[in-house]
Amino acid sequence: HSICPNKPNELVPDGCASYSTIEELNEKLYPLVNDITQETDYFAYYRLDLFGRTCPFWSDDDGMCGNIACAVTTIDEKDIPPIWRAEELGKLAGPKASHPVTRQPEEPSPLAGALGEETEESCVVEEDECDERDYCLPEDESAGGKGDYVSLTENPERFTGYAGAGAANVWKAIYRENCFSKPRGESSLDSAGGLAGARKLDLSDLEVDDECLEKRVFHRVISGMHASISMHLCWDYLNQSTGEWSPNLSCFVSRFENYPERLQNIYFNYALLARAIGKLRNYLPTYTFCSGDYYQNRITKTKALKLANTAASTTPQIFDESSMFRNEMVGLKEEFRSRFRNVSRLMNCVGCDKCRLWGKVQTQGYGTALKILFEFDESKNANGNPVLRRTEMVALFNTFGRVSHSLRALEGFNRMLNEKDETE
Ligand code: FAD
Repeated sequence: HSICPNKPNELVPDGCASYSTIEELNEKLYPLVNDITQETDYFAYYRLDLFGRTCPFWSDDDGMCGNIACAVTTIDEKDIPPIWRAEELGKLAGPKASHPVTRQPEEPSPLAGALGEETEESCVVEEDECDERDYCLPEDESAGGKGDYVSLTENPERFTGYAGAGAANVWKAIYRENCFSKPRGESSLDSAGGLAGARKLDLSDLEVDDECLEKRVFHRVISGMHASISMHLCWDYLNQSTGEWSPNLSCFVSRFENYPERLQNIYFNYALLARAIGKLRNYLPTYTFCSGDYYQNRITKTKALKLANTAASTTPQIFDESSMFRNEMVGLKEEFRSRFRNVSRLMNCVGCDKCRLWGKVQTQGYGTALKILFEFDESKNANGNPVLRRTEMVALFNTFGRVSHSLRALEGFNRMLNEKDETE
């Protein structure tokens, strides 16, 4: 297979990496990303404002999910490392806070040797302001003490029963953000998140090609995220009559059999995220992982670096972002960024807590990947690049973990289909 059958070896942003390249890479990366997301506290806890923000489009009443599987178990702050508690974060955050300058060795020494050689890393939390280079809205720890800590490992993305008009309306609104050919003033949201008012029409917007590469990339990212969510709800499905969780083959068949492009978009997102993580290989050695525990910080950094170095090891490069946004005249990059932010605002309209949690994690993860792809200089370390907040880092790695697991689930469903064929 290849994503672009007539151009199997062409690795361009529109997803022409071959399926087998990606599958081989996933053989190496899945155990690494699984380990870092499941086995480190740093990547297991995510702080977000899950309940405090309202949907700017419609009343939530018809979108709410009453099913118990939708509920998220939040954590008492006393059970999380002190450094992430609102009280502690309050001390560190502030308008003057900046990225820590504590330097780490370029190449981390083996853990045993490194321990005890250096003092505790400083942990400085960045201010909660939206950077103009962000593709997503911050769900930051320093958001005025608001929000909840959620364990991502204890709240796995799986079937919740959230469906019907509420869910369909959110997806519809998300796909509407892909209307790049519309003048920007007609966007369904303004930059403050409210319904758009009249805005000055920039004629250059009209020149945006309906089929431009950037528009296709935007669509593929959203569709790939949607497909990955569908894959997980089918893979970890609740049989409501037996009360057992297991893969549901007919759920998979109905959502994917006649829609090969949905699977292609999962592969596409895999390539995009793997490239973004690989692009961090010079950034991570000088990045501060704050868990409040020196030993944990070292372990987390070592694991993150191993993942980034392995992700960067594919040749040729798996995803080439340099061909995007070449035509800066039309402000396409800015529009792309603003539409992506609108998608993250739409997550507040998701009427199921667990779906909203994973929806927010994944939009933040893709937003972070886009920020790295289009705003980062990969030859520089953390001091020469935009800051990545802890929430961005956690979201990026967990989003990659989701897509990596989607490919595993796809293998599992393919096996089930083959077995079914053999017995028939
Ligand atoms: P939907 O998945 O709702 O799709 C709506 C329409 O979009 C389809 O009819 C089709 O025309 C189109 N479409 C479907 N897939 C794609 C694709 N990949 N690319 C392009 N177009 C597509 N449910 C859970 O059980 N667990 C979850 O964790 C969960 N998380 C969610 C997160 C978000 C942000 C949202 C909006 C919903 C979530 N849901 C979750 C609900 C789930 O996504 C579906 O909406 C629900 O299962 C109903 O599915 P459906 O078959 O009606 O089609």
